[in-house]
Amino acid sequence: MSRHDLPSYVSAEHVGPWGTYLSQVDRVEPYLGKLARWVETLKRPKRILIVDVPIEMDDGRVAHFEGYRVQHNTSRGPGKGGVRFHQDVALPEVMALAAWMTVKNAAVNVPYGGAKGGIRVDPSTLSLKELERLTRRYTSEIGILIGPDKDIPAPDVNTNAQVMAWMMDTYSQNVGHASTGVVTGKPIAIGGSLGRTDATGRGVFVTAARAARNLELPIEGARVVLQGFGNVGNAAARTFHANGARVIAVADHSGAIANAAGLDPEALRAHVAAVGGVKGFPGGGPVGLADFWRTECEFLIPAALEGQITEANAATIRAKIVAEGANGPTTPKADDILGDRGITVVPDVLANAGGVIVSYFEWVQDFASYFWSEAEINGKLDRILTEAFDSIWNVAQQHKVTLRTAAFIVACTRVLEARAIRGLYP
Ligand code: NAD
Repeated sequence: MSRHDLPSYVSAEHVGPWGTYLSQVDRVEPYLGKLARWVETLKRPKRILIVDVPIEMDDGRVAHFEGYRVQHNTSRGPGKGGVRFHQDVALPEVMALAAWMTVKNAAVNVPYGGAKGGIRVDPSTLSLKELERLTRRYTSEIGILIGPDKDIPAPDVNTNAQVMAWMMDTYSQNVGHASTGVVTGKPIAIGGSLGRTDATGRGVFVTAARAARNLELPIEGARVVLQGFGNVGNAAARTFHANGARVIAVADHSGAIANAAGLDPEALRAHVAAVGGVKGFPGGGPVGLADFWRTECEFLIPAALEGQITEANAATIRAKIVAEGANGPTTPKADDILGDRGITVVPDVLANAGGVIVSYFEWVQDFASYFWSEAEINGKLDRILTEAFDSIWNVAQQHKVTLRTAAFIVACTRVLEARAIRGLYP
């Protein structure tokens, strides 16, 4: 593609998360055979909506926030992907996150396309009432795109079940009837699914453990290091801990802590709930960020934001397995450094797919108005993830590529097959 052919919203330098995504697609192109004819489809989002979100603040001022909803691809089904509230949210980031949802949903074969949304806001500066007004106005503004058979949002960074409840209620008020299937990750009282809150972290454990099994690494006594202790990070920590592993270092936006004898994930969760971050946790000592990344361990789990493992720290990492709880935490150059050093990376599109798989279960249960037990949900989740992991592992062995490229081969083939079979309209 020449520079002049680039969509106007994409920088020619392709830096940041969207650049990371594009270079991941470039790596898979040689493996797509005849479907490579359609590859440009993956390099352009299908639809982008930018909305102004004005709200009245508690002090009477009117504040404006910028919101986004991007549908990257809907060849295999409706758009699906989270909503992020963060001060650094920007269009190229939302585009990349939407694209990774397309790849993730296809990699684990759930019948969705890919979408993502967000608002550029630091939600910690808002009162609960301001947060509710922001969520409701944003939902109303993106109402032309979302719907249970069009595009189904879910929680992401700084959004949770309460935010999903407000989104569900706002959408329902606007369409004139209760529409439970419009979002997932809802509270149980309004059609949420058992197991959804911990599903992403559980999936990180299931896929990382599968990789460990193939590498003959025991989970019992294994050392785990996590960046991010939110929804994904703390559920992953609890699951590893429950299976006999030791969480020895955790970093988040407030700082990093370590304890070689093991941190208690439940106590750390209570501390974070009380004070807002891991800093000051009495069960561990403070550690500098450079030392945090250098911690020797079996499992390193980035579970915060994109672009955290880069050329700057990849060479210092002393883990056997990196399991990506976050979306896009590793840059392509860092990926190469980790690969050259024999570190196995379980890519985001596989490692953190547990959340969208149980979101899919929630959506199915809402349509059927029939709800499953937690054991049933976890059993189905583990089976889907294990099968996806094994088939991607086999593709990686067959083509002698990384698990990320293998996941992209499987996923992009599914998406482009659907694209080719549907054909171009008109
Ligand atoms: P969250 O808001 O619950 O937690 C985010 C965590 O990241 C917090 O611990 C926060 O302190 C930490 N963090 C933020 N900025 C940081 C920084 N600069 N340095 C270090 N830590 C920082 O969000 P979440 O839902 O746990 O999402 C985390 C990641 O997982 C994101 O990349 C998200 O896209 C991805 N993800 C989430 C889900 C889900 O179901 N929630 C599913 C798939 C992927």
